[in-house]
Amino acid sequence: MDNYKKVLVAVDFSEYGIEVALKAKHLAEQFNAQLSVLHVLDNIPMPDTPYGTIISLKKDDLTDQLLEAEKNRLKEICDQLNIDPTNRWLVWGEPQHEITQLATQEKIDLIVVGSHGRHGLAVLMGSTAKGVLYHADCDVLAVHLPD
Ligand code: AMP
Repeated sequence: MDNYKKVLVAVDFSEYGIEVALKAKHLAEQFNAQLSVLHVLDNIPMPDTPYGTIISLKKDDLTDQLLEAEKNRLKEICDQLNIDPTNRWLVWGEPQHEITQLATQEKIDLIVVGSHGRHGLAVLMGSTAKGVLYHADCDVLAVHLPD
């Protein structure tokens, strides 16, 4: 089996988000793989943008305060992990769908998610981790987090 070359970690800014991100960072280092970080904006309305649903953090022309706050949170985590700006992603949509779609688009071979996060109550309907595992066309690691 080939080593992992491209790892994607999905961060939701929940209490244990940084723990998940750090584990992904250590894993990527073990395999000498490129690490990308994704946060899905699932609670902010999408503004009219010529860039489609995926925007790079390098584009800072959106002034919405909530969006700025989310960008800052992602920047904080990515700076801490020393993630290249081209590998930082903010995407509007539904987390499970956007995580698997970006993974396919970027030819990711390992997705790292937390076993659960902010959508704790949605567990009965299937958590993001389960959805990603079911729909991803690459390996998925769910970092076990305390209840
Ligand atoms: P949850 O479905 O809220 O229990 O979340 C499980 C895991 O899915 C989290 O630990 C994250 O790794 C990922 N996840 C959930 N929501 C998001 C989001 N909005 N953006 C990025 N990752 C997410």
